[in-house]
Amino acid sequence: MPTESTFLLAGLFFLAAALGYYFAVSGDDEERIDRTPAGRLNADYIKGLNYLLEEKPDQALEVFTRMVEVDDETLETHFAMGSLFRRRGEIDRAIKVHQNIIARENIGAMHREQAMVSLAEDYLSAGLLDRAEELFGQLTDSEDHGIYARRKLVRIYEVTQEWEHAVKGFKELESIDPRAAEESRVAHYYCELAESAYADGEAGLAHKLLDQADKASSPSLRSQLLRADIRRQSGEHKQAIELYGQIMDKAPKLIGAVVPHLAESCRETGEQGHLSESLEKLLESDPQAGRAIGLAAVYDPRIVNETALRCLRDFVLGDPVLTNLVDMSGLQADDSEAQNAALERIRNGLTNVISKGHRYQCRECGYVSSDLLWQCPSCRGWESVLPSVQLNFSSLVR
Ligand SMILES: [Zn+2]
Repeated sequence: MPTESTFLLAGLFFLAAALGYYFAVSGDDEERIDRTPAGRLNADYIKGLNYLLEEKPDQALEVFTRMVEVDDETLETHFAMGSLFRRRGEIDRAIKVHQNIIARENIGAMHREQAMVSLAEDYLSAGLLDRAEELFGQLTDSEDHGIYARRKLVRIYEVTQEWEHAVKGFKELESIDPRAAEESRVAHYYCELAESAYADGEAGLAHKLLDQADKASSPSLRSQLLRADIRRQSGEHKQAIELYGQIMDKAPKLIGAVVPHLAESCRETGEQGHLSESLEKLLESDPQAGRAIGLAAVYDPRIVNETALRCLRDFVLGDPVLTNLVDMSGLQADDSEAQNAALERIRNGLTNVISKGHRYQCRECGYVSSDLLWQCPSCRGWESVLPSVQLNFSSLVR
């Protein structure tokens, strides 16, 4: 049965034949004699294409890598073939094709650089990051591929978590690519360094790195949250409460992640009233915030604040799935004690059956996580993993 590659290669074959024929009939008499379609498309080339059409990639590869003559048309076929192998996951073959192009002495700088980019992509696909880094490093001054190569280098540093290299690489990129300046990634890299420093017990260094993050991108939401967390973990709850309040004002999308920490600091200082005030203020400016607050109370049963529990009650009563599954009569009882008992029963049930692994979800690719991640491990997007606004019951069907 013909496959995608068969059609693609057949297309390449006819394109190459048509080009050969065009040059043959449009040249002068002397050229017309030397450049018949068969003459232009030398025997090895046709043999290699035939092997590809017959789905015999190893034989085709052998013929193409042995070919003595490589001109612009056949070179494009080499590139197409390499790209096809990579797309099909045949990375070893793609590497051979691109290495063969680079080894040619008769190709120009433009094609050599194009082949280096392709080979570096092959290495990335194969997980050979060191080799990809080396090749992209040789292309940073290329007029055609310099920006792309620098972007790829930064991506490699992100994967290998070499954050100091990432800072340096991205700052260099910002100096030549105006789009990079809008991405504020350097702040994230400094925050990564600050997290490591704090984990190593170097709180002073962590604060200095957070200052660097703010200089790189003002204001950096992540640096503010990290500062608040450091205060909370150091027992400086009053400062933490103030910082958490500022974050919720600026970033309602993070309410679900912040409320449990704010509630903890308010518990430690006995300031339940302050927590209620903060939550009421949020609800006033955005009634939808109630959903995130209610969910936070499900994920963290230590939250006993009245406003949070009211949000949870509204959330449960407003959920069409839950109202069909759960006996809600207690929630609507006249007796407030009966209401509280019913809410506690429902909350305990939900806390036990929801999947904590789905507490956060990437808005770009759907990746789910039990922790707040600033870079999605799946699509590598920044700040795309956010608190989920729905209950997930997938743990019930395992
Ligand atoms: Zn993602």
